[in-house]
Amino acid sequence: MGQVSDFSLQDYHPYLDSALLADINRMARKLQGVTIQHINSAAEGGGVAELLQRLVPLMRSVGLKVQWEVITGKPEFYQVTKAFHNSFHGQPINFTREMAEIYLEANQRNRDLVDPQADIVVIHDQQPLGLTEMVDQHPGQWIWYCHIDPTLVDREVWDFLSPFARKCHASIYHLEEYAKNLQQQQFFFPPGIDPLSEKNREITLEEQREIIERLDLPQDQPFILQVSRFDRLKDPMGLVRAFRNIKTTDPCYLVLAGGGAADDPEGLIVLEELRDLVQDDPTIKIYCLPPSSHLAINVLQRTAAAVVQNSQREGFGLTVTEALWKEKPVVTRPVGGLRLQVKHGETGFCAETEAELSYYLRLLLQDAHLAQRLGANGKEYVRKNFILPVYLHRWLRMLEQILEQ
Ligand code: UDP
Repeated sequence: MGQVSDFSLQDYHPYLDSALLADINRMARKLQGVTIQHINSAAEGGGVAELLQRLVPLMRSVGLKVQWEVITGKPEFYQVTKAFHNSFHGQPINFTREMAEIYLEANQRNRDLVDPQADIVVIHDQQPLGLTEMVDQHPGQWIWYCHIDPTLVDREVWDFLSPFARKCHASIYHLEEYAKNLQQQQFFFPPGIDPLSEKNREITLEEQREIIERLDLPQDQPFILQVSRFDRLKDPMGLVRAFRNIKTTDPCYLVLAGGGAADDPEGLIVLEELRDLVQDDPTIKIYCLPPSSHLAINVLQRTAAAVVQNSQREGFGLTVTEALWKEKPVVTRPVGGLRLQVKHGETGFCAETEAELSYYLRLLLQDAHLAQRLGANGKEYVRKNFILPVYLHRWLRMLEQILEQ
């Protein structure tokens, strides 16, 4: 499992400050041959898969021995873990013994995936956490990597999952405020995007034209874009309402581009709800894209007038990082990792309400200079903080600390 990338650290030199590069090289030399195994629940779709697809090859390219495995389960397992996921975000859940059994059984069945010799085993999010029952018989260090905001997690769900998380030697969160009290070493660092990936690389006019044609993307007016899985927490419905308000004064389109993730069984239901709301409104385009549509998303993000991430909750929000990297002005809710990325008035705008969302989008549609200034600031901010080699640097620093003990 995991992708082969043609890129090595050298390819990222143009984006890197020399001190950072030297530090990466120093730590990589020290960590040569360390075996790391990542375990998550989806090979594609969603932010974790997106991250691992790019991080794993880069880690390998600097000399680490990295594997990536994906747990599998029956549909009811994904129903349970999606309900757990939602309950991390504060949604009510009717936690039952049957759910616990389904969860434990699936994790039990995936035990063979664990490399018995790995120096480091990283469990991404809650779906594979049941594997930590193996920690006591395993020689390596285990890390729980919590990619979402767990602060509102349902008590019963947390009472069930936290003993598994507690078995790990360390945990990683995007933000300090996400930390749970697990009596283990904790690390806090944001993820990053790959400037060289199909999703983020520069594109030619020809590629742009071809995708625009294929998507039948209207060209007569600017468009506002949200890219995300069809998930209620991303609140595409709220965006549709705000857009309908904007459109009364500023002609434009709304593009909602999304797809599913293998471990997210709710996508189709939300998509249907969205289609019900939109009906046959010709100014709203909904694109349901397969997970391999990186170039199409790249083109959409590059050609949008403004990018929105209207999430009510968001662990980090890679879609915003991607948009900022493409010098797009963004408007997001001031939640979770979005707050780290969007400095209000500098790299984008934070909107608390649908009225504010309409207000800031109008502002951006009407003021090209403002849009340009925010976009340029956003790109530089991402270059310094949220690109893949910076993320690798944070990983190496953490590994150094964990392995030195
Ligand atoms: N994404 C995609 N196709 C889609 C929807 C999302 O490739 O139809 C990608 C998106 O470009 C981003 C990631 O999936 O890289 C989503 O990560 P984010 O952190 O924004 O949200 P998550 O899905 O993890 O909640």
